[in-house]
Amino acid sequence: MRHFAVVGSGPAGFYTAEALSKAYGEQARIDILDRYPVPYGLIRFGVAPDHQSLKAVSKRYDKVADEPGVDFIGNVTIGRDVSVEELLALYDAVILAIGAPHDRKLGIPGEDLPGVVGSAQFVGWYNGHPEFADLNPPLDGASAAVIGNGNVALDCARILSKTQGEFGGSDIVGHALEALDKSSIKTVTILGRRGPHQIAMTPKELGELGHLEESSPVVDAADFPPAEADEALEPGERKSVNLLREFAATPPDAAKPKRMVFDFFAKPLRIEGDGKAERIIVERTELDENGSARGTGETYEVPASLIVTAIGYSTPQIDGVPYDDRGGKFQNEGGLVGDRLYAVGWARRGPTGTIGTNRPDGYEVAEQVAAAMPAGSAGDREGAAGLKRLLSERGVMPTDYDDWRKIEDTEVGRARPGSPREKFVRVEEWLSALGR
Ligand code: NAP
Repeated sequence: MRHFAVVGSGPAGFYTAEALSKAYGEQARIDILDRYPVPYGLIRFGVAPDHQSLKAVSKRYDKVADEPGVDFIGNVTIGRDVSVEELLALYDAVILAIGAPHDRKLGIPGEDLPGVVGSAQFVGWYNGHPEFADLNPPLDGASAAVIGNGNVALDCARILSKTQGEFGGSDIVGHALEALDKSSIKTVTILGRRGPHQIAMTPKELGELGHLEESSPVVDAADFPPAEADEALEPGERKSVNLLREFAATPPDAAKPKRMVFDFFAKPLRIEGDGKAERIIVERTELDENGSARGTGETYEVPASLIVTAIGYSTPQIDGVPYDDRGGKFQNEGGLVGDRLYAVGWARRGPTGTIGTNRPDGYEVAEQVAAAMPAGSAGDREGAAGLKRLLSERGVMPTDYDDWRKIEDTEVGRARPGSPREKFVRVEEWLSALGR
């Protein structure tokens, strides 16, 4: 019997567990660990609450958890409650699937002023992440800015622009729904340091902006290269650029009171304000010969009392695990980090790709594990029994999948009408739903 620990219960963790379960059948026990009492990681805390079809992938993960050899051990933080070294002593292989939950910093003056938040914080706030439930982002000004031209920037800008009615059917948490309903923000400026051809936004996500109830997208036609240049783009990129061209060609809807302004070739230089963010000073850029942003020396200011930076994420460091500072992920060779230690998902590749990208990634690493210790080969590690003993000695009370199902039932039971669930937003609330 082999024992495997998958650390992290987001998409990367579940796909890896699924692949290991298929490869080993009854020859292995696979424990999926998570620092929170509840599973799904990015699916619960990252994917936008108004994108329920993406969140539905968790149903597939439930099937993995139902496999006889697979268990969930929640409420356990690796690096705090138990070390990677200890896990390696208890398990035949340890697979780190902890994602990239930390915001990258812009590295400009004023970034630490109140009112400037990272997208992990902002997304965590509206998605009920316990670390960010009290973020209380300032929504009382007329203008907000989102820095970055990826899908996360779009998520943040869209959430800031929707009406309460447009959140029907979503599982946005009650505190965020209430605060957004009272929001005074009328203009959301999305700042991109390069141009429309360099965006990292996908067509489906961009297309949604054309159908918002109260907000109209605003794009300056002068930012585009000649139309012929679009031919060099990949089909998906071309679709996105076409949408931006359509937005540029359509005057904003006068009946809608809000605007989502795409400000391209705009590089943030500093954030200013009297004790809190009030404006961003931006430098106009142009593309250099390598396609990078080069400042032109022309500067201007964009008013914003809420500034969300959506410029990418990094994986947290864990003691004893080699780290790639530049890539913001664990050092690894095709997923192999060290002896019997692997990384998958964003912790392996960095924060790019869709949920589905994690499937081949997890399967590839599971294949490597299976090649190193073939199914049917003997192992003499203790696995979950040893881990649970260690946790008990340390006063840590783990949760299992039955516990999660009880929490889920309670969250479903307290949902507002039309919503799939009302999430608990604190660890204590999860535990008290279990009577602990
Ligand atoms: P991303 O796609 O890598 O985009 C990051 C953006 O930040 C880029 O536009 C980048 O511009 C910009 N940026 C980086 N450093 C900057 C700086 N110092 N100043 C100004 N701008 C800066 O990352 P993401 O939006 O966080 O998304 C992460 C992954 O999740 C992506 O693969 C995304 O597609 C995926 N995702 C998918 C969905 C969905 O499918 N619905 C939703 C959310 C996220 P440069 O290009 O100039 O570097």
